[in-house]
Amino acid sequence: MGREIKRVTEGFDWPLKKVWAGYQNPYWDLRRDCPVCSNRDRHGFSAYANHLYDLWYGDAPFQPEDNGSIPWKPTDLFIQQIIREKVERNRNDWLEMYRCDDAEEAILFESIRMCTHYNSAWQYHLSEQDILDLVEADCLWEFTRRPLSPEQETWPNGWTKEPTGYVPSREEVLEWHMGHGLFGMSGSEAYAIIRARCQRAGEPLECERCTGSGSIWESQAAQRLYDEWEETEPPEGEWWQVWETVSEGSPVSPAFATADELINWLIDEGYSEGAAEAFVTSDGWAPSFVLGNGRLYKDIDAMDIARQYDDEEPDDETGQADNDVSGAQVSFDIVYDQPVSTLFEQPTNIAGRVAAAGIVIFFLLVMLVQLI
Ligand SMILES: [Zn+2]
Repeated sequence: MGREIKRVTEGFDWPLKKVWAGYQNPYWDLRRDCPVCSNRDRHGFSAYANHLYDLWYGDAPFQPEDNGSIPWKPTDLFIQQIIREKVERNRNDWLEMYRCDDAEEAILFESIRMCTHYNSAWQYHLSEQDILDLVEADCLWEFTRRPLSPEQETWPNGWTKEPTGYVPSREEVLEWHMGHGLFGMSGSEAYAIIRARCQRAGEPLECERCTGSGSIWESQAAQRLYDEWEETEPPEGEWWQVWETVSEGSPVSPAFATADELINWLIDEGYSEGAAEAFVTSDGWAPSFVLGNGRLYKDIDAMDIARQYDDEEPDDETGQADNDVSGAQVSFDIVYDQPVSTLFEQPTNIAGRVAAAGIVIFFLLVMLVQLI
């Protein structure tokens, strides 16, 4: 979680880890779950779009032929290749799992199992139209934003600024999606394809009752009250306190009269002296986590890596995120101000899904930059 220092009034004693009242919109209670879409798997989407999502992920009966594709077979060269790579990476585990001595046998068993999985979901059986829909929605940068000639202008990370016009084949996209690695289609591609499919079918993408928000309000006046409400900060003073900033915001340390008292309290909590001092005496902000030097640093401990980087100049050519945490120029691989767990939660509304997909894409792009 992100952490920050707040200066509060003497003796401020709002309960720890309880969201500050001034950050909580009291009119939220006037909102109800949409009665039409709240019992669907994905809130905010129409029944039609929900069904398409089920087909995409293999949660509803799907036939490859329905999308103009043919079922994958364990003997297909491509299947053999990706399963062989997979089994050979952890050969002993697979031999143990299938209780056999021969890797070829394990590859065959795993190929059979994976083909059943691949043949049950739309995402492994794209049509030509699906590819066009993805390109139209500016997805598939791996194919559409790679320079076709040395003259093409690129960003520092190697993507072209505009799509090159290249349209990949479905085989190319599926090999990329199904092959080994972190890359492949994610929620944003699913969303783009499903949105296009709804449009073509003349069906709504979003729930028509709540227009995609997943919420309805008791009245227009109630929604206006909610929209117009403004948050208020805790009373400002001379005392020192640590707050977490990822939820709406709540204090996570007692309030102390001096910075030194707070630093000592942080050290007692297990933070290093250097990290505690850097956090309290610099900007008073620490990100949720920082990935750097091949390690994950959580909140205030991230200040340690900030200090290590103090003497280094940021490298503008790498495309890495630059961040000024301790007052010095710092170059981190990833600085992220959300709890790690939110990356893996299933968001239930459209905005949440698109946001989550964006975060995952961001991570993949950063990792790709590092590989290059
Ligand atoms: Zn709804």
